[in-house]
Amino acid sequence: MSAIVISGKELAKRLREDIRIRVSKFIEETNVVPHLVVILVGDNPASVSYVAGKQKACEETNMKSTLIKLPVETTEEELIKIIEELNSDHTVHGILVQLPLPKHIDEQKIINTISVEKDVDGFSPVNVGKMVLNEECFLPCTPAGVIKMIKETGIEIAGKHAVVIGRSNIVGKPVSQLLLQENATVTICHSRTIDLKHHTLQADILVVAIGKPKFVTRDMIKPGAIVIDVGVNRVDNKLCGDVDYDGALEVASYVTPVPGGVGPMTITMLMENTLAAAKRFTR
Ligand code: NAP
Repeated sequence: MSAIVISGKELAKRLREDIRIRVSKFIEETNVVPHLVVILVGDNPASVSYVAGKQKACEETNMKSTLIKLPVETTEEELIKIIEELNSDHTVHGILVQLPLPKHIDEQKIINTISVEKDVDGFSPVNVGKMVLNEECFLPCTPAGVIKMIKETGIEIAGKHAVVIGRSNIVGKPVSQLLLQENATVTICHSRTIDLKHHTLQADILVVAIGKPKFVTRDMIKPGAIVIDVGVNRVDNKLCGDVDYDGALEVASYVTPVPGGVGPMTITMLMENTLAAAKRFTR
């Protein structure tokens, strides 16, 4: 058996073209250009590359992007002041603070400072609460991208057993919640799970977000499963996921690659949220 590869790169390209058309229509109707401001503190190479990807996606979708680059020694108070100014700037629709932040800055405090209406990453407590209540909100980008990729297979999520490895606030927990809303039966595994393989072998849909290279091996995957690899790891200067890709190709029915899988979808969902923020602002 050789799995079908769900190319996030291809899917993202299609979705971005659709977003570009909707953005152009929106600008024509309102004279407002959706505007995303990205704040980068320090010069962590991975963060610099993620921020560049976000700016490129804004260009591709006809939106305005502004990058605010701050030195690593920026204080929490200085960062909060900048965010407060952006909160009250009517020309700004989305604010994203690239994570991780330097250790001396409290990330949750910074996320909480971003106005809920401009929290296009969907990380603020209000957005998270609304997501859980299934109310209109900004869905967190990576989990929303994961659901789009699963739906791309055409296989019904409802009734399937979905196993998520990882319970972080930005991936594991929200992706589990969204799968539940799609009526999957969801199991969440983490570092204290006993006999992980016992759980993963039951997964019709396996979402892996651990941050350990090639951690999920062929023998842990149920034949015919859909495997979504969220992990991004650098090994010998090359990117790889949390799943042994070659092994997964042999046993699963669908697999996402790394790179070119969940990553491009995350950024595409950010574009979707930024357009939604601009629309809400003008209605
Ligand atoms: P994280 O905050 O470090 O969370 C990792 C999770 O994995 C934790 O819940 C941890 O369990 C669990 N875990 C660690 N070791 C485990 C083990 N041996 N068995 C089972 N579970 C284990 O990481 P994250 O932010 O969720 O990110 C996960 C990966 O996704 C990283 O590689 C990150 O770079 C990548 N990522 C990619 C995108 C994208 O757009 N492609 C976006 C975000 C993140 P405990 O809770 O018990 O510690």
